[in-house]
Amino acid sequence: MCAKTIATEDITYDKLLQGNKDWVKDMLDADITFFDKLSAGQTPPILWIGCSDSRVPANQITNTLPGDVFVHRNIANVVVHTDMNMLSVLDYSVNVLKVKHVIVCGHYGCGGVKAALGNKQVGVIDNWLRNIRDVYRIHDRELDALKDPEQKFDRLVELNAIEGAANIMNTSIIQNAWASGQEVSVHGWVYSLKTGIIKDLKVSCNCIDDVAPMFKVG
Ligand code: ZN
Repeated sequence: MCAKTIATEDITYDKLLQGNKDWVKDMLDADITFFDKLSAGQTPPILWIGCSDSRVPANQITNTLPGDVFVHRNIANVVVHTDMNMLSVLDYSVNVLKVKHVIVCGHYGCGGVKAALGNKQVGVIDNWLRNIRDVYRIHDRELDALKDPEQKFDRLVELNAIEGAANIMNTSIIQNAWASGQEVSVHGWVYSLKTGIIKDLKVSCNCIDDVAPMFKVG
């Protein structure tokens, strides 16, 4: 054990453990069998792919409970087809958990998207955010026409979620599920930090017809 003692004035750290005790009490007060049921297994109907941002926790903002949402989060909710972490989560949730919905949820004010809009070096993360610059390149005509920087920022957040949803649809995981008759829909959403409201970006898809021909896999 490290000889260095943990500072007792670390209130945030202590608060976590006390918070956990309080939460367990609240859950048991509401339903004495809550943890018995959860410990028996999970059948979440939703896969959530969102940003790591501390202000966008999947369960709280959708008013759901543990067991309802399978979650994958990364900086700026990037969906890229070489990410084995994301692909493993997608494969497990679609083929084992049989989720009915895959939601890619971005959020306005996303620091990752903002960094991608600038040219300043941040560090290793620049390579990750490069994927968002690719989103910009695909939609540069629309984005360049927006002269208000805030409008441009907001739209890139939306397009990043829309392209993320498209990248989910383009995977063999989703397309094989559709081919076998499995019902699974893919959606793009965006969350507002200012209002707490989620906006459906209306790009939902549940069949191969909406996939661009070059991304169809047989
Ligand atoms: Zn973010």
